[in-house]
Amino acid sequence: MFAAKIFTLYPEFFPGLLDIGMYRRAREKKIWSLDVVNIRDFAIDKHGSVDDKPFGGGSGMLMRPDVVNNCIEKNQNDNPIIYLSPKGDKLDTSLVKQFAQQAGINILCGHFEGVDQRVIEKNNIQEISIGDYVLSGGESAAIVVLDAILRTLPGVLGAEKSLDEETFNNNLLEYPQYTQPRNWEGITVPDVLLSGNHAEIKDWRLEQSRSITQRRRPDLWDKYNKKNN
Ligand code: SAH
Repeated sequence: MFAAKIFTLYPEFFPGLLDIGMYRRAREKKIWSLDVVNIRDFAIDKHGSVDDKPFGGGSGMLMRPDVVNNCIEKNQNDNPIIYLSPKGDKLDTSLVKQFAQQAGINILCGHFEGVDQRVIEKNNIQEISIGDYVLSGGESAAIVVLDAILRTLPGVLGAEKSLDEETFNNNLLEYPQYTQPRNWEGITVPDVLLSGNHAEIKDWRLEQSRSITQRRRPDLWDKYNKKNN
């Protein structure tokens, strides 16, 4: 069972989207578990304060290292801890696969202006970003990270092998896909897909993947060429 643990000031965000459809069923089948820890319960002064002003000035508040550390220490296990942060390593397929191979993951969600840097360093926490934009808190990013991990776990998705052909595998974006009706408002489906010729379909799809990747994602196209030449 993949054990997800979340440290947050807003436990009411969870399980949220992860309590619906295949993720709910997978949790019932004990493919994964969720433990949500309220950081506020680990405040150490009598006012229950979790944040304070940044030294050196600047706007906003920072989460206190003593409170966050107390929370982590009291809930520790052997799984890696990540802190969601726009300054972190950018999440991609290979990181997702790495996380999914662990027995679980602990996710620290920031709020306000973030977390005092000392608690990140002391606990050897890897910082992970879900993209180059700033969110108001780590909770929505935690859902993104878990969504990306959980769907790769055996038994979660219906068709396991659909993962192999997806966007980002082999550094290519996915080819375009079509379903019924064959003729929709005068727009027809590419003939090759109706040919029943699996080798031709495969070639066509690879060519489409290559061309869309080259046009839209020069960064991936470079990686693809380095690996395939
Ligand atoms: N002052 C910080 C931003 C804080 S945003 C800075 O400029 O770097 C508040 C919290 O939202 C962060 O602590 C983090 O947990 C979360 N967050 C914001 N953007 C994120 C992103 N792109 N990826 C992951 N987490 C993010």
